[in-house]
Amino acid sequence: ATPMAVMVGTGLGAQHGILFKNAGALEDATKLDVIVFDKTGTLTMGEPRVVELVAAEGRSEDDALRAAAAVDRGSDHPLALAIVKRAEGLDVPQMTGFENLEGRGARAEIAGEPVLVGNRRLMDEERIDLGALTAKAERLKGEGRTVVHVAQAGRVLGLIAIADAPRPSAKAAVAKLRERGVEVAMLTGDNEGTARRIAGELGIDMVLADVLPGQKADKVKELQAQGKKVGMVGDGVNDAPALTQADVGFAIGAGTDVAMESADVVLMKSDPYDVVGAIELSRATLRKMH
Ligand code: ADP
Ligand code: MG
Repeated sequence: ATPMAVMVGTGLGAQHGILFKNAGALEDATKLDVIVFDKTGTLTMGEPRVVELVAAEGRSEDDALRAAAAVDRGSDHPLALAIVKRAEGLDVPQMTGFENLEGRGARAEIAGEPVLVGNRRLMDEERIDLGALTAKAERLKGEGRTVVHVAQAGRVLGLIAIADAPRPSAKAAVAKLRERGVEVAMLTGDNEGTARRIAGELGIDMVLADVLPGQKADKVKELQAQGKKVGMVGDGVNDAPALTQADVGFAIGAGTDVAMESADVVLMKSDPYDVVGAIELSRATLRKMH
């Protein structure tokens, strides 16, 4: 790479809010075979809100919401913030002994009873029988909702369905990447059903779901072991190791500092379509050098 072409390329990128942190990334971006997008906060807005409450038999929707909000007051997870917000105006009880359960949810005690808030994996691990709520949870996942389960003293209280809208340009970004011969994948800690539904809406068929935070980088490694050059796009603390592992890591500008520090390219406008821009810019820059 001639230093001049690289300077012009990175300068042009910067003008468009695409910050290449090193010259190597500009070259590597021309070679990417697959782009892996984190779901929450990257393909979606990362502004989840509660859209539906389902009570277990003999319980009320408010019982479930109050218990979940009590526990999730202790968490800064985006889903927790959505739950606490929805419970505004309700009499949310005090909790003690909050514990974050990475990739699964959280637990605490209310009036001496253990309360669990989280995904299906957490309920299965704790042997909570969901009964008739199993089918309702599946229906919600099929609609693309993230489902948070609430249990107290070993019994399910209800479900909280949460929606997070796709970023407006996500679908077009996927289509353009595929047109350019780049494969696209979705990587998420969320469940398979929800992930597949949202991926389908965006035109993505490679879905890596139910991935624990510590395993995201391994998924990138597995793709690299298939001989692929991998670009990873993410926003969260969770995504940082995967961004580092990828051949080119792209961070969403509205994301966390850790993600931005770990990435090779920062997308200042938080626009997934700028991944296309970054690749086109790198290809144009390299063409000028030959
Ligand atoms: P992601 O944010 O990419 O979906 P996480 O690994 O942070 O992945 O979480 C995985 C899943 O665990 C979430 O989709 C949710 O179902 C559940 N979860 C995690 N933390 C919480 C929490 N504080 N409250 C409720 N559910 C949670
Ligand atoms: Mg995210």
